[in-house]
Amino acid sequence: GGSIEIYKTIKAMVEERGLLVDLELQEEKEGIGVKKSGCHGFCEMGPLIKIEPFNYLYVKVSIEDCKEIVETTLIENKPVERLLYSFDGRIYETQEEIPFYKKQTRLVLDHCGSIDAESFREYVAKGGYETFVKMLLEMNPDNVCRIVSDSNLRGRGGGGYPTGRKWQQVLSQQSDVKYVVCNGDEGDPGAFMDRSIMEGDPHRVIEGMLIAAFATKSTDGYIYVRAEYPLAVERLRIAIEQAREYGLLGENIMGSGFSFDIHINKGAGAFVCGEGSALTASIEGERGMPRVKPPRTVEKGLWEKPTVLNNVETFANIPLIVKNGSEWYKSIGPEKSPGTKAFALTGNVNNTGLIEVPMGTTLKEIIFDTGGGIRDGKKFKAVQIGGPSGGCLTEEHLDLPLDFDSLKKVGAMIGSGGLVVMDEDTCMVEVARYFMNFTQNESCGKCVPCREGTKRMLEILERIVAGKGTTEDLDMLEELADTISSTALCGLGKSAAGPVTSTLKYFRDEYMAHVVDKK
Ligand code: SF4
Repeated sequence: GGSIEIYKTIKAMVEERGLLVDLELQEEKEGIGVKKSGCHGFCEMGPLIKIEPFNYLYVKVSIEDCKEIVETTLIENKPVERLLYSFDGRIYETQEEIPFYKKQTRLVLDHCGSIDAESFREYVAKGGYETFVKMLLEMNPDNVCRIVSDSNLRGRGGGGYPTGRKWQQVLSQQSDVKYVVCNGDEGDPGAFMDRSIMEGDPHRVIEGMLIAAFATKSTDGYIYVRAEYPLAVERLRIAIEQAREYGLLGENIMGSGFSFDIHINKGAGAFVCGEGSALTASIEGERGMPRVKPPRTVEKGLWEKPTVLNNVETFANIPLIVKNGSEWYKSIGPEKSPGTKAFALTGNVNNTGLIEVPMGTTLKEIIFDTGGGIRDGKKFKAVQIGGPSGGCLTEEHLDLPLDFDSLKKVGAMIGSGGLVVMDEDTCMVEVARYFMNFTQNESCGKCVPCREGTKRMLEILERIVAGKGTTEDLDMLEELADTISSTALCGLGKSAAGPVTSTLKYFRDEYMAHVVDKK
């Protein structure tokens, strides 16, 4: 059975024994509380159960294990050894000791997997909304923009644009109506960071948006979530209702004169809608297509009004930065690219899952320490970073610290944070074809270089994969890649050729092995 069945079974067993307490009611009586939580991140080992106060993490739990968990752990306070994580003959009793978690710094994901995402009380008990309320009483918009600016926080959606600068630009616009928009349209294959935050800690995103609204004097907010994330939509809906109920959203919040509310907008799952102007067009009810810039979103965004547009992870960082200050934030990771980054670690790695590490962590640490190395003892070959808009990194990049600037230098990008690890058996030409097929399908068709160019590139790649390509095709790929990246209208097109150019650069011999006229 899945996690929900396990949750229901354990809860029923505890109730049968008369030991169940309702955690929401904060009853005085002693007993056992059973609750659902957001994602723990250790996807490879799910379903997971965390037992507090012992901090045991049970992995790969099944319905058949429930009775033993209740009797041995919940009643006798002893661990069920066979359910604890073990690796290389060692058994790890607590979550912190497990190598997958050990090198992580979970700031944004701190609550995911520990609090009940549908409980307002639990978020507040962890210090939630404290920063917003304190800010409302003690600060002004300039102070808040300054803290975010000084923290050097850079947008986690891909580009790495300084968040504080964006906010200051919106604050300086003269307009009665301004918007705060949260981009939850995460569409890269293999990426699920934003989804886990929305599902596991929705109030943190709302608090981040509230702070952004106050700092930029904005009046209304939208969260754009893809409809394929129904649990995220539901948890956000519940959280927004709770925040309204407790007077944290709406008119004249806590008598401060500041008003702000948030609406959810469900997207149909088009990758291009992650692009700012396509996203705002989609909220307006128009077709989700990017437009020429300027004007920029900070000047004329949603309904032509100044708009703060940040992604989920960026907003989730905000309450911590405003609470602990910019110096604290800059002390984590490199100064120009500080903080942590959530990555979805997938592919041929032992520990797939959702991780959060300080910026500047090397690829080697991520893949071999946190990720537990390559599956079945195979050799590492490459990692695709940043999804279809990113590029591949190889063995020579294993010691490269991952941050916005260092990746740019080697022609890759962090993107939103997808990391697909590939072993020695992976065909890199097929990888390039896969990603080109994805971008080609997702091209909105507005501009010729991307609409036609990606189609031609895909045709060539298909020909090469089928063993019918020529060396001339390789030259043509390079030429098309050059043209598309310099002439396409939006980021999707500009970066569409990334997986092809980087695989051609590092694995040209594999392309050569496929072509018929080897020179
Ligand atoms: Fe549309 Fe591609 Fe042009 Fe972007 S680059 S506007 S996705 S056709």
